Parts: sequence; C-alpha cells; structure tokens
Amino acid sequence: MRLVLLGAPGSGKGTQAELLTEKYGCAHISTGDLFRHNLKNKTELGLQAEAFMNKGELVPDDLVVRMVSSRLRERNVARGFLMDGFPRTLPQAEAFDEILKELGQPLDGVLLLDIDEDFLVRRLTNRRTCRSCGKIWNLLTLPISVRGCSACGGELYQRGDDAEPVIRNRLKVYRDQTAPLVAWYKNRGILHEHDASGTPEETFRDIRITLEKHDIS
Ligand code: ADP
Ligand code: ZN
Repeated sequence: MRLVLLGAPGSGKGTQAELLTEKYGCAHISTGDLFRHNLKNKTELGLQAEAFMNKGELVPDDLVVRMVSSRLRERNVARGFLMDGFPRTLPQAEAFDEILKELGQPLDGVLLLDIDEDFLVRRLTNRRTCRSCGKIWNLLTLPISVRGCSACGGELYQRGDDAEPVIRNRLKVYRDQTAPLVAWYKNRGILHEHDASGTPEETFRDIRITLEKHDIS
C-alpha cells in the first residue's frame, strides 16, 4: 500500500501509522521524525530545520522534498509506504506527485483524520514521549499513578513544540497551508475521511474498513 496520512497535528497520524505498519508491513515515513533525528545528530539538514521547528513553522519545501525523495529511493519501500506529515503544502504535494511518477508508484489513497481544534489542543498539551524508547503517551488516557513509560519505565518528556502557544501556531499553519490539500486530493477522488476523535482502535477500525472497501493492501 502507498498511502498518505493527512490530519492536523495531534490528530493521531503517528499512532495510526504504527498500527498500519504493524499490520501491513509497509515503511512508515514521518518527516517530523526524520527532522528530529537529523536535529539530534546535528546534521546540516537538522541545523537548517531547527529554527522553523522550534517556532512551529514549516520547514521550507525544497528541504523537505529533497529529504523525502532520497528516503523513498535509498531504502526498500517495495511493500509500500505510509507518509506521515508529508505532503503539508500544495507545492510539496505537486513535487511528491512528480517523484512517485518517476518511481512508477502512484498513491493508493489519502486517509484524512478529522478532528475538532479545541480537542486537539487538549490532546497535544497532554502528550508525552518516552526518552528511552520513543513511545508516545497521553496524560489524558494514562492512569494518574503512572509517571514513567509503561513499556520500558523510561522518563516521559514533553516535546518543546507541544507547548500551548506553539501548538496554536502549528494549528494555524495547518489551517492555512495544509488544509487546502483536502480539497486537492478530494478532487482526484482518492481522499477518505475518518473521524479521529475516538480511541486509536476505533479510528483504526474505520480505516481498515476503508482499505478493504477500496481493495488497498
Ligand atoms: P506534528 O505533531 O505537528 O504533526 P511533526 O512531528 O509531523 O509534528 O513535525 C514537527 C515539525 O517538523 C513541524 O512543526 C515542522 O516544523 C517540521 N515538518 C515536519 N514535516 C514537515 C513538512 N512536510 N513540511 C514542512 N515542515 C515539516
Ligand atoms: Zn519507554
């Protein structure tokens, strides 16, 4: 399968991507993760992206497109891929189309995770990541007594860009720059909408129904 996960920050793209890759064995390509990885290793790309990321702004299109293009070529994506956090602007979507055309790998579909903004702010301000294993947790759904990571006991931390003012800015960026992609993909008849306000399992079940219905595997 070759899919794009589209949705506002906090809509659960990362979680659905994990569930989907586990079930279908395709590559999970998260541009946010790729940038954070580059940042941690202080690569040229990471240093170029850092200032934008810290403000909750988008990294310039050419940097993102170059990174995705090389990722799609360098490692095996024979079993398909799930794009998580890309494309995020119309120019990125157009460049992505060109790359896929070149590779002879057209998209099977775009999964939209639909969710209300106030709900997102609550979800994002409560999001925590494990410093050891990278797993993502949410204080809203964790038992109060659990302080560390339930998977490995590691320390939980809040991403710098999950602070409320930065979140508001990321949501505005989504509204202004990414939301237009919804109509763009809808016009091409490959957009599938899902309510993302329920539990991850509920959303995943809806997505599986869509995939089965459209014979995507
Ligand atoms: P979010 O929770 O906002 O979806 P991500 O982990 O996807 O967070 O991305 C974190 C940051 O990385 C973004 O705020 C942005 O600065 C940068 N980034 C990730 N993907 C893209 C992209 N496709 N285009 C531009 N910037 C991106
Ligand atoms: Zn952990």
